[in-house]
Amino acid sequence: EIGSAEVHDKVERRKTRTVMMAGVPIGSGHPVPVQSMTKTKTADWKSTVEQILRYEEAGCQVVRCTANDEDAAHALKKIKENIHIPLVADIHFQHKLALIAVKSGVDKIRINPGNIGNKDKVSEVLRACKDNGIPIRIGVNAGSLEKDIMRKVGYPTSDGMVESALRHIEICNEHNFDDVIVSLKSSDVFMMMEAYRKLAKLCDYPFHLGVTEAGTSWQGTIKSSIGIGGLLSEGIGDTIRVSLTTDGTEEVKVGREILRSLGLVSFGVTLISCPTCGRLEVDLFRIAKEVEEAVAHIKTPLKVAVMGCLVNGPGESKEADIGISAGAGSAILYVKGESKGKIAESEIVPRVLEEIAILEKSLKL
Ligand code: SF4
Repeated sequence: EIGSAEVHDKVERRKTRTVMMAGVPIGSGHPVPVQSMTKTKTADWKSTVEQILRYEEAGCQVVRCTANDEDAAHALKKIKENIHIPLVADIHFQHKLALIAVKSGVDKIRINPGNIGNKDKVSEVLRACKDNGIPIRIGVNAGSLEKDIMRKVGYPTSDGMVESALRHIEICNEHNFDDVIVSLKSSDVFMMMEAYRKLAKLCDYPFHLGVTEAGTSWQGTIKSSIGIGGLLSEGIGDTIRVSLTTDGTEEVKVGREILRSLGLVSFGVTLISCPTCGRLEVDLFRIAKEVEEAVAHIKTPLKVAVMGCLVNGPGESKEADIGISAGAGSAILYVKGESKGKIAESEIVPRVLEEIAILEKSLKL
């Protein structure tokens, strides 16, 4: 649920106008929703719904489907009826598909007005969105900048991306259409960061952040964490999508973790565990992994520390909601800063889980 996020006061968010999407405010100090995109054929609405329900389970808060032909655009209606999170239609060029998507009941459209074609078509699409209270996302991608911009700048640059975005924004302004969110994606982390920073000084529309074509799970997670996380830490960014060449639930997991690392969302268990070193006298790799797996489904915001020895263990454990500081084949258990005594190594995982359940219950009372 989008509204459950909590904004950390360490990050001073960029002031933007607020854009409503399916009744959810996007921008300024509002929570930062995590988005993903389906990888099925949209026209196969049953498989697409199945995939979205898995995304939802992973914590996805907004989902986008390509509306690349009429069958896909019509299928959005069925999809919308069977999911629980806002649905975005991804459209390139064809205004007819945008109109079908609006009729299908989508909550946002990703479209670049400058690519729709003649003025009448642009007006028609923007009017349909306005009449239905649907915002649009202008999605600039470094790999597909307008030809004349490319001729001018020679190769994709952050300035070229900003110029492209401003053109699309101007078209919206000409039509008095202000429900706009903008993205400036590039596979180059520096370029995308620079582009967002530059545009942040020139407009007050909320931003959808992403490093596009970021790669596979491993590389893409790192690139996205730097690009998206870097901007968020500067207060720039109002919704995010991590793009990975793998299952979308992985994108959602990474997105949520980026937000959690920056204190931009309080959701689920934050695990603090040490890297271990020669002082270690328990199997901390196993213990941390077992705790991580066992708490993956928990939505209550909790901090759990799993520490290898007395050097940093007691300090971190006392700061956490639940912590263990290991010794030789045993550990001291801490709950809310208080020592609960020594427990055997074999008891660590079950006892930590037991204490989590007790805390969760008390928080829900
Ligand atoms: Fe090593 Fe102890 Fe630090 Fe873990 S907490 S890395 S075991 S010194």
